[in-house]
Amino acid sequence: MNREQMVEELSKIVGKENVLFSETDLLLYGYDASLFKGKPDCIVFPGSTEDVSQIVKFCHHERIPVIARGSGTNLSGGTIPTRGGVILHFSRMNKIVEIDIENQRAVVEPGLFTLALKNQLARYGYVYQPDPASEKVSTFGGNFAENSGGPHCLKYGVTTNHVLGAEIVLPDGEVVQVGGKAPDNPGYDLTGLLVGSEGTLGIATKLILRIMPKSEAVKTMLAIYNSLEDAGRTVSAIIADGILPATLEILDKLTIKAVEESVHAGFPLDAEAVLLIEIDGLKDGMERLAEQIMEVCRKNNAREVKSAKTEAERTQLWAGRKGAFGAISRLRPNYLVCDGTVPRTKLPEVLTRVMEVSKKYGLPIANVFHAGDGNLHPLILFDERDVEELRKVHLAGSEIMKLCAEAGGTISGEHGIGTEKMKEMFYIFSNQDISAMKKVKKAFDPEEIFNPGKIFPEVQA
Ligand SMILES: Cc1cc2nc3c(=O)[nH]c(=O)nc-3n(C[C@H](O)[C@H](O)[C@H](O)COP(=O)(O)OP(=O)(O)OC[C@H]3O[C@@H](n4cnc5c(N)ncnc54)[C@H](O)[C@@H]3O)c2cc1C
Repeated sequence: MNREQMVEELSKIVGKENVLFSETDLLLYGYDASLFKGKPDCIVFPGSTEDVSQIVKFCHHERIPVIARGSGTNLSGGTIPTRGGVILHFSRMNKIVEIDIENQRAVVEPGLFTLALKNQLARYGYVYQPDPASEKVSTFGGNFAENSGGPHCLKYGVTTNHVLGAEIVLPDGEVVQVGGKAPDNPGYDLTGLLVGSEGTLGIATKLILRIMPKSEAVKTMLAIYNSLEDAGRTVSAIIADGILPATLEILDKLTIKAVEESVHAGFPLDAEAVLLIEIDGLKDGMERLAEQIMEVCRKNNAREVKSAKTEAERTQLWAGRKGAFGAISRLRPNYLVCDGTVPRTKLPEVLTRVMEVSKKYGLPIANVFHAGDGNLHPLILFDERDVEELRKVHLAGSEIMKLCAEAGGTISGEHGIGTEKMKEMFYIFSNQDISAMKKVKKAFDPEEIFNPGKIFPEVQA
């Protein structure tokens, strides 16, 4: 089917004004926050589950790929069209359907920004815990499909622990419900399977979320180090002391420099690393717990530990962390965010080896990461106009993933595999493991309509 016919048929479903297909639009929706680019055939903006179902039925019949898209902030090429097709953009389906305080649930449409729900929940003294640093613009559809994490996921768990059910459009256009508001649904845990499936198995048109009352008290501290390894060691030491903070985030020297030049969070420029620590819970006992943590920091060579005295000071520290990725883009035209996890105790060793990779390829690497989860984010800085440098970036990124796998970790903590890390899947899975996962894809989507060319490499002979 040619593009003209495709646009005509899709316009019958959603209206002409909700289909884009100019060359400029195709370029604009052909990239995301990864290093990859592609080109769709058109972009469609559904307004309801019924629209999504009809669009998918049409695409299924015509064997046209369908790629769901929220804000395109994913870092692994998840929304890149690898074989053209229809981009299903959820910006019109962005409502809060229900806030059910008594049952501690919220129901949202997939195009809603993560922070938009949190802002509404704050009026009730409630919170949705997962907090990707991109939450101002990331959507719940994207969070769901990438199983997103964030600084507070150390204590509260990632997206999969907070999505209890969903309305899903399957690759043949059928609409099904998985999970639900009540806990412990019988049958297969399809919600668990679909969270993190990167738009390859089903498209979410509604999500049922767990919400929680806000903690009574919160305390935010900043430990300052002359060595990145000492900051890494402190993370394991705090947890080994029986404490589970809400947050343990590390920023290294290069990140501190970038942050201070843009956000002015108050991080010392001569430090090798800072560790941002937040504890939350009951007011009673919080000061004692903070003192215990500060003592662990000092024992692990922190040269200073400060705590935020006011809400404004706390906000300033968090602005430094949440603005870090943006700030780093001031240092060089491009960066690749590597996303791997390692057992916490391996952090110091792996960080040292990451810096060896930086030296080997002559590429600066900044580190800002969810240290409590052992979730590393080395950011490799480069200029994509330099073809040789770009080649080295891909090699360095792959080598860092290998380091994580060899340390007993894995190749994605929260950003997914997408098109970026398909061949690295062999660092952690065997041919048999990958074949088993592909059988699941085949059962849901035998014609490979949903987000083709993602996650899985060809099985090796
Ligand atoms: C500055 C910055 C900071 C970031 N910080 C974090 C962080 O702290 N933690 C973290 O985990 N990630 C982080 N990310 C990555 C990214 O923001 C998350 O992966 C986010 O969840 C993507 O949301 P999105 O709306 O942009 O999704 P998109 O990028 O549009 O899509 C992501 C994936 O979801 C699929 N998808 C979208 N909507 C649906 C749907 N309705 N149904 C099924 N599949 C769908 C897409 O096909 C794609 O595979 C960061 C990114 C940036 C640029």
